[in-house]
Amino acid sequence: MSTPERFRLEISGAVQGVGFRPHVFRLASEKNLAGWVGNSSAGLTVEIEGPADACADFLHAIRSAPPPNASVHDINVSRCRLEGAAHFVIRASTLEPGDAATEILPDLATCPDCIREIFDPANRRYLYPFTNCTQCGPRFSIIKSLPWDRENTTMRGYAMCAACRSEFDSPGDRRFHAQPNACAECGPTLAFTDEHGSEHAIDEEALERAAAAIEAGQIVAVKGIGGFQLIADARSTAAIATLRERKHRPGKPFALMMPDVETVRYHCELSALEEQLLTSVRAPIVLLQRRSRSTLPAQLAPGNPNLGVMLPCSPLHHLLIRRIGFPVIATSGNISNEPLCIENKEVFDRLAGVADAFLIHDRPIARPVDDSVVRAAADRELVLRLARGYAPISLGGAMPPVLATGGDQKAALAVAGSFGIRCGQHLGELGSEPAQRVFAEQCREFPDLCGVRATAVACDLHPDYHGTRWAEGSDLPMIRVQHHHAHIAACLAEHGITTEVLGVSWDGTGYGEDGTVWGGEFLLATQEEFQRIAHLRTFRLPGGDLAVRQPRYAALGLLEEIGVSVADTPLAVAFTAEELAVARTQIERDIKAPRTSSAGRLFDAVAALLGLRLRNEFEAQAAMDLEFTASIAKGEAKLARMRIGDDGVVDWAPVIRSLLEAIQSGAAVSAIAAEFIVVMSESIVELARRTGKSTIALSGGCFQNVRLLEITVARLRAGGFTPAWPQRLPPNDGGLGLGQAVVAAARLRNQVS
Ligand code: ZN
Ligand code: ZN
Ligand code: FE
Repeated sequence: MSTPERFRLEISGAVQGVGFRPHVFRLASEKNLAGWVGNSSAGLTVEIEGPADACADFLHAIRSAPPPNASVHDINVSRCRLEGAAHFVIRASTLEPGDAATEILPDLATCPDCIREIFDPANRRYLYPFTNCTQCGPRFSIIKSLPWDRENTTMRGYAMCAACRSEFDSPGDRRFHAQPNACAECGPTLAFTDEHGSEHAIDEEALERAAAAIEAGQIVAVKGIGGFQLIADARSTAAIATLRERKHRPGKPFALMMPDVETVRYHCELSALEEQLLTSVRAPIVLLQRRSRSTLPAQLAPGNPNLGVMLPCSPLHHLLIRRIGFPVIATSGNISNEPLCIENKEVFDRLAGVADAFLIHDRPIARPVDDSVVRAAADRELVLRLARGYAPISLGGAMPPVLATGGDQKAALAVAGSFGIRCGQHLGELGSEPAQRVFAEQCREFPDLCGVRATAVACDLHPDYHGTRWAEGSDLPMIRVQHHHAHIAACLAEHGITTEVLGVSWDGTGYGEDGTVWGGEFLLATQEEFQRIAHLRTFRLPGGDLAVRQPRYAALGLLEEIGVSVADTPLAVAFTAEELAVARTQIERDIKAPRTSSAGRLFDAVAALLGLRLRNEFEAQAAMDLEFTASIAKGEAKLARMRIGDDGVVDWAPVIRSLLEAIQSGAAVSAIAAEFIVVMSESIVELARRTGKSTIALSGGCFQNVRLLEITVARLRAGGFTPAWPQRLPPNDGGLGLGQAVVAAARLRNQVS
């Protein structure tokens, strides 16, 4: 037998609430090691004592096979003095309140073991919709404060029954310290109500009634993990039409929930990566290419070749969807532009006239957490909406305490602290009063939850963003961060890039340092500073916001800028004489006709010139049309290249002139669209060459266009550059908060040092 030794392990990362302690306990017991394991502020501390070879085996096993949902950043191993211990024990939580240096875990989709139990008639959790274990279940949506203990969750009102308590207390049990542990005896219950909240059924009968209502074509509001969803039969054009009308959502695609991977594969193309995303413990909505054989109505996603699909992500969803057996719409439980409903007491008012019936339960939701949206791009995951299963996400090392308030659309907060920088969940548009209330609540609550007392607030340069106003009212020092720099800083932080890069920050709208509307920017940037070295040629947007909603006005501004008469273009028929007169006056007199260098608006304008879309029904619709059309390009079209001047103006004039000629000569619209995207990406490669930076960071909402992203990445690589783009954080304004926090924390840190 080898000589006895004792080791101490400090394990950091997302290691609490994932069954790590029982995992360590089982491993140590198997190898007959003594010692202990406990949560610590850094994560987890383990001490083991026993024969040297058993210790080595243990260390190897911990490193090579941690619990599946844990994310280990680092394991620090040190040798310590023998204590002659005889047993291995799990120590109670040693965390003090406010000592919140550990990760907050996202909600985890139901694990296979729990699914097996809820469909096993012999199991005591048969058909129980709130089943969970250390590998799965709600986390972020129920936590009120750290540490991760039941008392600090919305489960605190439920006392565990004897059977649940015994699981919770047994180190060998897969529900050992599963904080939301519950069963039908002691946990939350389900109820089916009418639209006024009158209860008609509970438990299993409630499920049955909800399933029957959906089968009958009704719209049922279902209280999910982080908020209400509206569920309806995805096969029914009548149900789709009703839901569109009631939700004030004429054209935006609806997300679907499908019973299983086989059903998804029937309706959609599914690559290995996409399948992995779909079936992951994060269980997001994945944008997939629809197959021609799919019989689902086109009205689910009009004019869109993709479907947003997710699988059931909680026992409640598994039970409901298995009963129904067909794909359903599962869209956020709100009216357009309002925040997600999470409270039983308000839902009957807020969703009155939208839902025909309600499937509710009494486990409170701590904060709204919508469904996440991702897609595969350039062989990587591309997160488009960071919410359930993904939020919060933490990056990097210790930072000064900062709160960042993010953007006005796709709002999301971020905080910096001892744990690094943490990005919160998607909060949506802040246009409505209820949304602003939720936003203000989260500004107070999120730093608290993270144990951060902010000494500064970072916000956008835009004076009218709600986050800027909130910061002004906070009495804390403000650090204003330019929009496009924040986009790039977020990308740099995600990839741990600390050198200066060429940042290509392309989006719809962002407040520029000169007070104009930026959006097609080339920045020399670090996480702390930037210099705008080039930008797309500016043009006017007659009507301001009107031109954002109606790409035909962006096209008009584009044409006016280069002196082309709209009468000589296919857009001639798109305006009345009066509309044209008003727009021309706005441009000539400089009233409500802001100048912009926006790449997003340039894409919009081109989509309008190509006749793809004159008016948007939802944000970025025209740009999406351009992408979709390009992806089915037939034939070829020749376009001129951008003219890049020494003044850093990237001039699209030759491109647009040649594009108009191509239309006139009868080239296929799809081929022109495809070539235009190539021209845009070539301008990036050309700027990369001129700048001589090896790393090129691509961010901003335009890079949600997978075609633009993939072509640019490929061409940059071919040119010997290293492209970096957001993958775990959204390239859109959902990543702004994190970027602001990165810039602010870097500046504060450098002030101190
Ligand atoms: Zn489980
Ligand atoms: Zn119980
Ligand atoms: Fe942006």
